[in-house]
Amino acid sequence: MAKRDYYEVLGVNRDASEDEIKKAYRKLAMKYHPDRNPDNPKAEEYFKEAKEAYEVLSDAQKRAVYDQYGHAGVDPQAGMGGAGAYGFGNFADAFSDIFGDIFGGGGRQRTNVYRGADLRYNLEITLEEAAHGTETKIRVPVMAECETCHGSGARPGTQPTTCPTCHGHGQVRLQQGFFSIQQTCPKCHGIGRIVTSPCGTCHGDGRVRRQKTLVVKIPAGVDEGDRIRLAGEGEAGVNGGPPGDLYVVIHLKKHSIFEREGGDLHCEMPISFTVAALGGEIEIPTLDGHAKMKIPPETQTGAKFRLRGKGIKPLRSNERGDLICHVVVETPVNLTERQKQLLRELEEINQQDAHKHSPRAKSWMDKVRDFFQ
Ligand SMILES: [Zn+2]
Ligand SMILES: [Zn+2]
Repeated sequence: MAKRDYYEVLGVNRDASEDEIKKAYRKLAMKYHPDRNPDNPKAEEYFKEAKEAYEVLSDAQKRAVYDQYGHAGVDPQAGMGGAGAYGFGNFADAFSDIFGDIFGGGGRQRTNVYRGADLRYNLEITLEEAAHGTETKIRVPVMAECETCHGSGARPGTQPTTCPTCHGHGQVRLQQGFFSIQQTCPKCHGIGRIVTSPCGTCHGDGRVRRQKTLVVKIPAGVDEGDRIRLAGEGEAGVNGGPPGDLYVVIHLKKHSIFEREGGDLHCEMPISFTVAALGGEIEIPTLDGHAKMKIPPETQTGAKFRLRGKGIKPLRSNERGDLICHVVVETPVNLTERQKQLLRELEEINQQDAHKHSPRAKSWMDKVRDFFQ
């Protein structure tokens, strides 16, 4: 079954605010929660669909990836933002306060354990590097566990204390009408502990921003927009959650000669008008060095010559593309008096039999004459 668009699932516009998305999700979650629909097997499906859509659209970074690449960019099977990998992070956050006691919770995890954020790194490489593959080092800013306090956020020698508001549960109960509602503790934000004497390095956060150097292997054949996933190299998790992933997004620098189209390379090939007329052999560049190409006599501008297998082998293909040269016949410039004289002589001879030597110009002139009659 084809996946529905996440915005469509939640019934919101593509420019919906975070708040609108959250509201739409809550409404659907209330409506289709399996505990409320024991006789409707479809409900669970809708519930899961809404949950998946919300997990992506509520995360600014994943939403941006989804907007650009669609489901392919955030497919849980591909490991990016999967419901499984994401634990109960955003899920619990969004409606632990609604479902706490109404639906019993079903042994749901209570503390806010978050998977670290996925990071995106834009890497520019040359066409040659893309064709042959390469290895490069990148420096990325990451939130890493603070080494001074080992992630606790407390000054060395001190310990975080149990939160006095929730007594370490991370949740507080509120009485509202008929319901006793469970909410994330506003004082400790669900962590259950409070840092009274914060670590000087991370100011109680437990994490610090740091640069790290990573070696990225770029496989031969990558193209514009391809992503290389470095599992676990994203931001550190919160409260023992797993780290996110780092996605290196490939961008190709403009090449001075070649333009790439999948596996094929295109280039412009200017030839002199004498070579165009008489034929000859010219040297052309390829990604593996020079190659010779035979130009047949009477070659016109716009002619295309294909060198089989001189292109690029795309990442997901077994076949190497071609190099396609597009002929441009160059009008000679900066002529000496002698060259001009020879050309005038040539033109004089050509004119005696114009339909034979310049059939295209001759037929065009005939049409122009007819047009003005
Ligand atoms: Zn620290
Ligand atoms: Zn608390």
